Amino acid sequence: MNGNLLKKFVYLIFHFFFITSAYADAVYDPATGTITLSHVLAGDGSSKTESIYATNVQITPGAILSLGKAWPPYIHPSPWPSEVDFYDIAAQELKISYIRTADGSIELNDVVLKVDAVSGVGFSESIAPGIADYKFRYVLDDSLPSEWRNEFEQIMNNLHRDIPIYAKSDWYSMPIFAWKSDAERPLPFVSGGCICGGGEGGHFRWMSLEIPASEFEYNQIHRYSIVPHEYFHVYQLSHADLPVKWLMEGPAATLESIYVQENYGINYFSSAQGPGLSEQVRENTASYESYSASGGEADINYSGSVFMTLVLGAELQKQDLSEAEAYRKILQDFFLAGPTLENWEAKFLEVFSISVDSFYSAVKTYELSYDAVLPSVDLKLSQIFSN
Ligand SMILES: [Zn+2]
Repeated sequence: MNGNLLKKFVYLIFHFFFITSAYADAVYDPATGTITLSHVLAGDGSSKTESIYATNVQITPGAILSLGKAWPPYIHPSPWPSEVDFYDIAAQELKISYIRTADGSIELNDVVLKVDAVSGVGFSESIAPGIADYKFRYVLDDSLPSEWRNEFEQIMNNLHRDIPIYAKSDWYSMPIFAWKSDAERPLPFVSGGCICGGGEGGHFRWMSLEIPASEFEYNQIHRYSIVPHEYFHVYQLSHADLPVKWLMEGPAATLESIYVQENYGINYFSSAQGPGLSEQVRENTASYESYSASGGEADINYSGSVFMTLVLGAELQKQDLSEAEAYRKILQDFFLAGPTLENWEAKFLEVFSISVDSFYSAVKTYELSYDAVLPSVDLKLSQIFSN
């Protein structure tokens, strides 16, 4: 957004070249007063301007604005990947995820500071406006066949292209751990399929893709479909903080099935999600707002949450929206509206032009089946998501 600041930063990056060591993460050298950043992303938090990704950047720090969290006071051991730091071009602030001195005598998380000068850079690349600049850091375990790892990268490229996630100062990078379930976990606190955080993992967030060995044995498409599902949670979280189960899991599992239909020609809605439908979704629709109230049998493979999402798609098409427009409202516009626990019912009405109560009443009028509400087999993510 501020072209002059961007140019200044680019100028600094390109006009001072030094050879730097390949340090992991950010290292502060008290002797020279410099900080070496292993990876840094510079952007203004919008999708409208160029961002820059660079490695081995040496800076002279200016004013320290905050010293971040004290716990955990360390970075996780390997294979936790090197942190990416974020230079907010709009605010002209550098946020360092984890910084230490070479001897480990000082370790801090989330330091925010001004930059006086950039004195060196290893590699840098420009990320054009409109191209996703959120940085996932892949940690793909050797227990996974190379076929899976290649397909994973292809899926991520497709998702970045069709559903771009943009970096901003509090949301710019996440590790992805993937391994086969019969191998050892990458780290003791990483397990399952989720966007996880907390516990022994501290304040970091990560994507965990524990791929059941049986899914390879039986050639199950879920070994791939979990990737768009979890990716979409990152997209949702980059816009919304919404602990309403069906509105988080329903769209994620629906997107998962649309991806699978588009890329593998498999109707995952009917083969994996629909069969688990429970009458509870019509008898107590509101219970699907809560993970605990709609757990177990009520929402196997998110069958009920997906049903509600598909019914919403059908109801929106009654408002003279095309199918792609209806799913754009559900998968994109609703999250861009920034729903929270406090305002989500108002946002729901605003985006969908139907109240939550009216919608729940409508759900009860549908047959307990996906048959009448399935999206077209030729519906594509690129038609749904648009700038
Ligand atoms: Zn999920």
